[in-house]
Amino acid sequence: MTMREQEVGVFDFVLLDEITLEKFMQNLQKRYQAGKIYTYIGEVAISVNPYRVMNIYGNDYINKYKNRELFENPPHIYAIADAAYRDLRQQNKDTCIVISGESGSGKTEASKIIMKYIAAVTNAHSQHDIERVKNVLIQSNTILETFGNAKTNRNDNSSRFGKYMDIEFDFKHEPVGGIITNFLLEKSRIVQQQEGERNFHCFYQLLRGASDAELKQYGLTRDPSNYHFTNQGSTETLSERNDYKTTQQAFKAFGFSSEEINTIWRTVAAILQLGNIEFGVQDDEIVIKNQNQLKTVSKLLCVTEAEASTALTQRVIAAHGDIMKKQHDKSQAEFGRDAFAKAIYERLFTWIVERINRAIEVPNKKLAKRFNRVIGVVDIYGFEIFEKNSLEQFCINYCNEKLQQLFIELVLKQEQEEYQREGIAWTNVEYFNNQIICDLVEAPHKGIIAIIDEACMTVGKINDEMLLEAMDKKLAHHKHYSSRQLKPMDKELKHKQDFRITHYAGDVAYSIIGFIEKNKDTLYQDFKRLLYHSNDKIISSMWPEGAQDITKITKRPLTAGTIFMKSMSDLVQTLLSKEPFYIRCIKPNDSKSSVLFDEVRVEHQVRYLGLLENVRVRRAGFVHRQRYDKFLLRYKMLSQYTWPNFKGPTDRDGVRVLLEEKRLLNDCKFGHTKIFIRSPRTLFQLERERNEM
Ligand code: ATP
Ligand code: MG
Repeated sequence: MTMREQEVGVFDFVLLDEITLEKFMQNLQKRYQAGKIYTYIGEVAISVNPYRVMNIYGNDYINKYKNRELFENPPHIYAIADAAYRDLRQQNKDTCIVISGESGSGKTEASKIIMKYIAAVTNAHSQHDIERVKNVLIQSNTILETFGNAKTNRNDNSSRFGKYMDIEFDFKHEPVGGIITNFLLEKSRIVQQQEGERNFHCFYQLLRGASDAELKQYGLTRDPSNYHFTNQGSTETLSERNDYKTTQQAFKAFGFSSEEINTIWRTVAAILQLGNIEFGVQDDEIVIKNQNQLKTVSKLLCVTEAEASTALTQRVIAAHGDIMKKQHDKSQAEFGRDAFAKAIYERLFTWIVERINRAIEVPNKKLAKRFNRVIGVVDIYGFEIFEKNSLEQFCINYCNEKLQQLFIELVLKQEQEEYQREGIAWTNVEYFNNQIICDLVEAPHKGIIAIIDEACMTVGKINDEMLLEAMDKKLAHHKHYSSRQLKPMDKELKHKQDFRITHYAGDVAYSIIGFIEKNKDTLYQDFKRLLYHSNDKIISSMWPEGAQDITKITKRPLTAGTIFMKSMSDLVQTLLSKEPFYIRCIKPNDSKSSVLFDEVRVEHQVRYLGLLENVRVRRAGFVHRQRYDKFLLRYKMLSQYTWPNFKGPTDRDGVRVLLEEKRLLNDCKFGHTKIFIRSPRTLFQLERERNEM
């Protein structure tokens, strides 16, 4: 180990003398403490959240990484972004960057750093479209975070939706457009927050950032503790005043009209007001206790008070062609109100994403033809364990399983394929394959989602407890599933309520209570009709199915679980068709400290991310591989036979001559198109001599 390495550790884990967990951890900690937050495993970047502003993202850094090979500079996200962009240009391939890690580990920040880099390195010939695309790529994050992120107990700015973004390039490799796909928003947060958590940022931005006049228009007061939807968890301030302005600016940058902006904030206000509607019972009839509140909500949603009142207190049912009205009881009315609030927000969010997409899509047909390749960036919600885990956590954690599976498949597959392609022998490395957990969730008929769906389809009363029984019966022998029924000694699990999944990233106890309802995701038709008839054109456009004739509605909508599973499978297909790059994020501690390296927490993540196996796979063969022409270009000055130019027939011969002269041949293997170097020392020696020239 060199002096420098003793101080700051090795920049690539494959360079460790020994591949043990202990050495791995030492190296990671050493680097973290030396302020080096990035380290490689081959072409995978490991990133440790610094929890402080790092001075490593400026233009000087952008220039340093522009058009450079990974090993030419210290590890950085920029190098990964550059590699993805270079592959796109030079090999004419679609690429993608998959960012994974648990909640609070730095995924969303990483995705923004990548976008910033791509925007900066593409040529700015002042072409109007290109400038437009670059700006909006970056600005889109502001809006998405305002409406899709919230403070959780793990992260003050936690993504509560999954995001996949394609950045589209034309044949000159300039960005010409983009498209965002969003996945399952955690909408239950609208009506309920756990202790210490908040609703989505937009609510606090509106309350604390809007002008007095605006608030008055919405009938709101500044204090979040006045609203049921914002006073259950924390009402902590997180610099909203600024953020409201920033959000407004971002809307303008996208060309949102003032009418559109007005509808957005008015809808946000309507949801807050809706949450304060209370029901009572008078002479056996359901009534809205606070009529003023109803009046405000109706005004904000541009519907009549009478219609709103009807939709909130009764439902219209079609039976055998007849139409009947049925009064809600109090709990049905409350359930309806909450489902309505969640649905309004979900539709608003989807509408905003679509509106952003319209602003960044390849603008005209002519350009569309020129559109050529994409870089996809995946930033999803990280693996999380809360005090109480429900269907949302179940979906989020399943999503993380899928990405882990993709990592295993691609990283191992890629390595294997490369050795095969190049005609080089390969030895297998043992690793934990989480396919078994993916199957537990998604297998047709016997996976958890299928079992829940079956319960939801069952006619007649079936409750969560019965669902758990069904799961226990079908999954009794699964290694990664258990419950109190199956393991009576497991006192952490509540009998008839909890089940446990041993995820790749740890054990999570889920409470089955609410699973059926959340999966069905029922919203009374009455609300759809109500908003379809809103006088606000934009709101009305979000509810097209409200136009349906009630007697003609026969189709049962897909369940939340099935929709999510399908979107995950689509995402995986999309990613499989691209050349992948990985950023694996690690959270150094649970207290957002910029100095604390919590060894237990970090070690746990290193284990479940399979990083050690990753190093072993990478090392099983060769630490470095390079195309002959590139290798020669880089090191030809080291030999009199190759400098200034090799005269022999092929680059491969040139590389051989050079390595022979350096007495390094024993450590290298010659593939069909690439040279493979086994030990890191060889690469170091070459680099050192090159630097000394
Ligand atoms: P979630 O899964 O909850 O969405 P996440 O992995 O997206 O979590 P981020 O929101 O990216 O996590 O990061 C959490 C916080 O950590 C950020 O708000 C920021 O304060 C800090 N942070 C993360 N990465 C960096 C970085 N590169 N430089 C400085 N601070 C960072
Ligand atoms: Mg995030």
